[in-house]
Amino acid sequence: MGRFCRTRLIGKLFVDCTAVSFVTPFWLRYNSRNLNNIHYCASPKTQPQVDERPYPSILARVRLARLVNKPNSTRQVGTQGDTMRVLITGAAGFLGSHLSDRFIGEGHTVVGMDNLITGNMDNIAHLMGHERFSFIKHDVSNYIYVPGEIDAVLHFASPASPNDYLEHPIPTLKVGSLGTHNTLGLAKAKGARYLLASTSEVYGDPQVNPQPETYWGNVNPIGPRGVYDEAKRFAEAMTLAYQRYHGLETRIVRIFNTYGPRMRLNDGRVVPNFIHQALTDQPITVYGNGSQTRSFQYYSDLVDGIYRLLHSDEALPVNIGNPSEMTIVEFANAVVEIARSKSEIVFVQPTDDRFTDDPKQRRPDISKAKRVLGWEPKVQLAEGLKNTLDYFRDKV
Ligand code: UDP
Repeated sequence: MGRFCRTRLIGKLFVDCTAVSFVTPFWLRYNSRNLNNIHYCASPKTQPQVDERPYPSILARVRLARLVNKPNSTRQVGTQGDTMRVLITGAAGFLGSHLSDRFIGEGHTVVGMDNLITGNMDNIAHLMGHERFSFIKHDVSNYIYVPGEIDAVLHFASPASPNDYLEHPIPTLKVGSLGTHNTLGLAKAKGARYLLASTSEVYGDPQVNPQPETYWGNVNPIGPRGVYDEAKRFAEAMTLAYQRYHGLETRIVRIFNTYGPRMRLNDGRVVPNFIHQALTDQPITVYGNGSQTRSFQYYSDLVDGIYRLLHSDEALPVNIGNPSEMTIVEFANAVVEIARSKSEIVFVQPTDDRFTDDPKQRRPDISKAKRVLGWEPKVQLAEGLKNTLDYFRDKV
C-alpha cells in the first residue's frame, strides 16, 4: 500500500472514531429514554409469562457505557463472557448474604461491603476464601473506593428492623441518604447498573390495600419509624434523579416482609421473636390486639425477584413480596403449630417506640412483578417457616 493510501486510511479511521465517540453518548441517552418510555406503556401481551426465566444480558449495555465514559479502559468487551463483577453493600446482612450466594452461584464475581453495624460475618463465612468473592469492611455513608471495573451495584446496606433503626436512627438516615448518594456516584463512575433496595415502608401506614407501586403512601415523617421510611423515600428520589439527569441505568425493588435463615434472633422483628418464643415454650408476644396484617415472603423468592429485576428493563419501582396476607394473631398460631410448641399467645402493649405508627395492614400488589419480570412467589409459609425453625433450633 502506498504512503498516500496509508495516510488517507489513517485519516479516515481518525474521522470515523471521532464521529462514533461524539455520537454514542447521545445515542445511549436517547436510547435509554426510549426504553424507559416503552416499558411504561408496554402491552401485557408482549411481556414474559410467569415461570419463563429471561435474564437478558445487561453486560453489553453497561460495557458500552463504560467504554464511552472511559475510552482508554484496558478491559476488553466480552473477555469476561456473560459474568459480571458486582458490588453488594450490606453483604454481611440477612438479604445481602443470600444475594451474594446467588450471584456467586450464577458464576459472577462479588465484592461484598458492610460496616457490620447490624451485619454479621458469620453470614458470609462460607464465602470467605472463594476466588470470586472479596469483602471490604466499610461504612458506605463515607466516600467509597473500589478498585477495578464494576458492572452492577446493589445497595442493600441499612439497619432494617424497627428495633435496629430505632437504636441507630442517625446511621439509618445517613445510609439511606449519603450511602445512596455515594453508591450512585460509584455506579456512575464505573458505568455500572444500579439497584436500590427500597421497602414497603415507603407506603407507611397505607390507606390502600393491597399497595400498588402507584400508591404514594401515608408516612409520618417525624415519628420514630420516619428515620427509615423517609431515608428510603429519599433514596428512591435520588436514584430516579441519577437515572433522569445522568442517564444511569437504575432499578428499585420495594421489599415486603421477608424471613428466613440468617435473620438475627434478637433483631426484634416478628418472625425471629415468635420463633424464639415458640422454640423455648415462652409466651408469644402479640403487640396490640394482633389484628394488624402482614404478608410474609421467603427469602429465596425475594432473591429471585431481585435477580430478575436487575436484568430487566424496568426503570421504576417494583414490589416484591408474597400477597398472602394474614393477621399477626394468625401468624402467631401458624408458628406455634409448625413448631409444635407449648407456647400460649399473649397480647402486650409495648410502651416504647416500637409500636408507634405500626402499619395496620400491608399486602403487596404484585401484578407489575408478574407482568414485567414473569415473577411470583413459590414458597408456601409452612415450608418456609419449617426451614427457618430448623435454622434457629440450635441457636436458641
Ligand atoms: N409484632 C408483634 N410481636 C412481636 C414483634 C412484632 O406482634 O414480638 C408485630 C408488630 O407490631 C407488627 C408486626 O408484628 O405489627 C410486624 O413487625 P416487624 O417488626 O416484623 O416488622 P414491620 O412489618 O412492622 O416492619
